[in-house]
Amino acid sequence: MKSKVQQFVRKNIQALAPYSSARDEYSGKEGIFLDANENPFGVYNRYPDPYQPALKEKLAQIKNTSADQIFIGNGSDEAIDLAFRIFCEPGQDKALTFVPTYGMYEVSANINDVELIKLPLNEEFQIDRNLLQPFFSDKNLKLIFICSPNNPTGNLLRTGDIEFILKNFNGIVLIDEAYIDFCDQPSFIKKISEYPNLIVIQTLSKAWGLAGIRLGIGYMNEEILSYFNRVKAPYNISTVNQQTALDILNKEQDYRQKVKDILAEKEQLIQNLTCVKGILTIYPSDANFLLVEVENADELYEKLIARKIIIRNRNSVIKNCVRISVGTSGENEQLLNALKEFSND
Ligand SMILES: *Cc1c(COP(=O)(O)O)cnc(C)c1O
Repeated sequence: MKSKVQQFVRKNIQALAPYSSARDEYSGKEGIFLDANENPFGVYNRYPDPYQPALKEKLAQIKNTSADQIFIGNGSDEAIDLAFRIFCEPGQDKALTFVPTYGMYEVSANINDVELIKLPLNEEFQIDRNLLQPFFSDKNLKLIFICSPNNPTGNLLRTGDIEFILKNFNGIVLIDEAYIDFCDQPSFIKKISEYPNLIVIQTLSKAWGLAGIRLGIGYMNEEILSYFNRVKAPYNISTVNQQTALDILNKEQDYRQKVKDILAEKEQLIQNLTCVKGILTIYPSDANFLLVEVENADELYEKLIARKIIIRNRNSVIKNCVRISVGTSGENEQLLNALKEFSND
């Protein structure tokens, strides 16, 4: 009898004999290590631990979950790619997401030769259940991506709609919570025991300020995790990155203060933008960025570039919208000064 999760896993992955690294075969810490063809000299001469136990313990403590339900990836993009590789048969299976959203789902789908169904969010950038419902009966639909808070719209998707999907979709649901630490909404991590088909991904790239080290986290039940561990590259997180991440995670107070500062700056930025002529809409944001509708996004983007102020032009996905990350107060002020000047031209 196949478990609920196993039935969604590609046949070749179910049968996969994973690479057995030297550190899989002997995981003790003490000894004379002559088994991995490492150089006996140096500081970083040893391969890293393939399963990052110390880092997972720390994350489990911060997120109030179990280290046995954590995957660590080379950015959350690795977790997204692994989900395709584990659950979607190339050229046959499908995935689904709600647009506009994070572009990596589509890139990763294309790389893996998986069709991505893109359902439009409604005017409030929320899920339209009526559009979605017919797809639940598609046997080849294996994976649904939900980004909440959503990038680039900035808003949380409704918990009720997400639970509706978790309850009714017979496949894997991946919730991308890259921005969850900027809002008060509880994470879906606590629902993992309730829904065996749920994967929650988070990242140290945004609220933790560690985009440079590439560290993403997947929270999932032990069975899904066993597939992630089999398919990932054996030593996917370097020793340096594991240590750097742990150092930052041990300074939780600093992190909380930074998030608070960014959110205060965001409120300030919203207030100031409201007074600028030519800013048509500032969409509600549950993240560290604002989606803003302007009169002419392409033009504004170019004018700001000329001042070496770089925002994200989203005109191609939402008409005349730009996405602005919240910077330091000095950076935000320079942006505002430029915008005010343009509106006086
Ligand atoms: C920034 C972002 C990520 C982060 O990806 P990493 O690979 O962990 O840096 C993931 N999802 C969304 C929606 C993002 O905006």
